[in-house]
Amino acid sequence: MSAFPRRPHRLSALAIGVALLAGCAAQPAAQQTPVEPRAETVDCAVTKCAALTFDDGPGEFTDRLLDELGEQQTPATFFVLGKNVEKYPQTLKRMVDEGHQIGSHTYDHKDLTTLTAEGIEHEVQWTADAIEEAAGVRPNILRPPFGSHGAVYDRLIPYPLVLWDVDTLDWQHHDPKKTVKIAMEEVGAGSIILLHDIHESSVKAVPQLVSELQQEGYTLVTVDQLFAGTEFKASKAYDKRSMSHNK
Ligand SMILES: [Zn+2]
Repeated sequence: MSAFPRRPHRLSALAIGVALLAGCAAQPAAQQTPVEPRAETVDCAVTKCAALTFDDGPGEFTDRLLDELGEQQTPATFFVLGKNVEKYPQTLKRMVDEGHQIGSHTYDHKDLTTLTAEGIEHEVQWTADAIEEAAGVRPNILRPPFGSHGAVYDRLIPYPLVLWDVDTLDWQHHDPKKTVKIAMEEVGAGSIILLHDIHESSVKAVPQLVSELQQEGYTLVTVDQLFAGTEFKASKAYDKRSMSHNK
């Protein structure tokens, strides 16, 4: 018996069979307009940029969010949990196909500072594997659950750690209006806005939030676009103060 902990397998052979059958029988999904790549050329050193980031998904409301983001031609960054990627692989695939960025948020939302080196390695590896299985890409950034990190743990993370500066507290109050209000009060050039797509109230806030940000002159970008031009290193923590043009 090996003591090496295996990656938990949530999908039974039956579930896979059903998924395959469903995949064969399903009508082609309505084609979602991919987010225009125009933002890729954005220079956030001269343009007022902000990044919408969604943690803890994918979940049951994420496809609706993707519809809304697609309609508003707005790219976002999703910090996904490996265990939820295994539940919603199609949603993950959609995120990638529609031009959004994928980051790791660990496999099952563990506080990294409570884990052993081996535990951290598993959380990172299992999540990257789940993302790759679902969408054929691997994450290049990680957001530590609870924002909990420290130098000793960070050096075990093979990606840059991406934090945030605008906390909408959406998970606490579940009020779309309040989510928009907090975000608009706290946002500034280069902001990283924290939201959670596992809550319906957060998804409901997004159309209004995007249109208010655009009215205020913000260009919404992915985390990679936001940090273009900044040296972005594995095992280091980043927020808007880390951007070279904000120093
Ligand atoms: Zn989280």
